[in-house]
Amino acid sequence: MHAPTFVGNEKNYVLDCIDSTFVSSVGSYVTRFEQMIADFTGAKYAIATVNGTAALHVALKLVGVNLGDEVITQPLTFIATCNAIAYCGAKPIFVDVNRTTLGICPLSLLNFLTENTTQTELGCINKATGKRIAAVLPMHTFGLPSQIDEIVKICSQFNIPCVEDAAESLGSFYQGQHTGTFGAIATLSFNGNKTITTGGGGMIITNNEALAIRAKHITTTAKLPHKYEFVHDEIGYNYRLPNLNAALGCAQMEVLPRLLASKRVIALAYADFFKDSPYQFITEPAQAHANYWLNAIILNDQRERDAFLNDLNEAGVMSRPIWQLISQLTMFEECQSVELTNARWLAERVVNIPSSAKLS
Ligand SMILES: *Cc1c(COP(=O)(O)O)cnc(C)c1O
Repeated sequence: MHAPTFVGNEKNYVLDCIDSTFVSSVGSYVTRFEQMIADFTGAKYAIATVNGTAALHVALKLVGVNLGDEVITQPLTFIATCNAIAYCGAKPIFVDVNRTTLGICPLSLLNFLTENTTQTELGCINKATGKRIAAVLPMHTFGLPSQIDEIVKICSQFNIPCVEDAAESLGSFYQGQHTGTFGAIATLSFNGNKTITTGGGGMIITNNEALAIRAKHITTTAKLPHKYEFVHDEIGYNYRLPNLNAALGCAQMEVLPRLLASKRVIALAYADFFKDSPYQFITEPAQAHANYWLNAIILNDQRERDAFLNDLNEAGVMSRPIWQLISQLTMFEECQSVELTNARWLAERVVNIPSSAKLS
């Protein structure tokens, strides 16, 4: 659906890494890549990780998601969002999405919190389970920004930190501000199918210095700086991004503006093509500038969707349905959920169509 594009310094930087022997956990490309992401997104701090899922695990931990807690998220997302919640020993609660952003519906979030929670000195407590709601985790689906200003406002009203899963939205802005810079902390992914790739990789971004220092510390085995001694002051993770991958990332960041421009041209062509069709091409929501990572259309019902998927794949054109609702998977089917009217409606109708950038 989205193949990588290597038309810049990718080979030079990776070869440079090999020649220098600094291919692993130490090297200057990691710092350079982190700085490039901070500069591009406008986040004060960026901490590279081995993949986006690891970044999300640590981001949730850092805002205080612990064993027995609950995290509010959307059922229409990639599985990594909910896996990261589970790695913390927490459980997701599912609220509905809206049909224009495919992200968390602020009204659904507000209604859930108003009807089901109470404030105590421990934080926001779910009256049904007695558990603490430790975070809200919105995801910017296919690079379409959610109504993140509204979501963050509701979070602060209920005293809950907001963690943004911006894995799919590098290059997407809401009201001129980069996605992932609205909440307390956010994460990106550089998997092979994302807008830019490091082979595998991720990033934590935040404006909070204390969180940034903690993020670097626990993603690098919680080692205290020392000339030769190995002293670790807590259980850390080996989640750092190898220099080899960061080298690829630096080269990809140099090309990012051109990639985004190409993806916009493709999206506009699709929008024009589908204008007079019975299908709805999903365009960027109001006040948003999308990266158009994966282009998507809405078909009229599930039968039409299945026929469309069969026809395209038979013709050798890749097309995939949107994810099955996470709330229907066996691992998460017992989790608390509101009525998911829009999520179910979208799950039956949305398909992705080829979206690779075209650069030479
Ligand atoms: C890609 C992705 C991630 C992270 O994936 P990794 O493969 O671990 O880098 C997380 N959440 C969403 C929504 C994603 O699309």
